[in-house]
Amino acid sequence: MGKHNHNNRHRYRGERRFSPEETRLWELYQAKRTQLIQRFGSRCCVCNRTNDKLEFHHMRHHEEYGKYGKSAPLWRRYQALGEIEKYPNDFVLLCYGCHQTITWLRELVEEERFRLHAIVTATF
Ligand SMILES: [Zn+2]
Repeated sequence: MGKHNHNNRHRYRGERRFSPEETRLWELYQAKRTQLIQRFGSRCCVCNRTNDKLEFHHMRHHEEYGKYGKSAPLWRRYQALGEIEKYPNDFVLLCYGCHQTITWLRELVEEERFRLHAIVTATF
């Protein structure tokens, strides 16, 4: 058991070899992602940046696709692109910075958001 785990760990630490199937999936994933980014205008919908790493933000989750994190396996991330394709109105394209900001703002309670907004709008 211990030996098996050690071998697995060693395999992942070493050079990564993709199987032909994994390579094919990676190409499909990249092609579909690029196509979707273009469909969303290839820019962050908040700050208009085009050169940052762009990410899709879920505004609504759909039961049939479940939830997944950023570390989800490739096949899962490929499946997730299908959700964007099917429900484009429930997603926005954001740069990394704006995505971080939105995630952070979402975590604030309503009262904190209200106080922040009051300060922002009073500042000039
Ligand atoms: Zn942005």
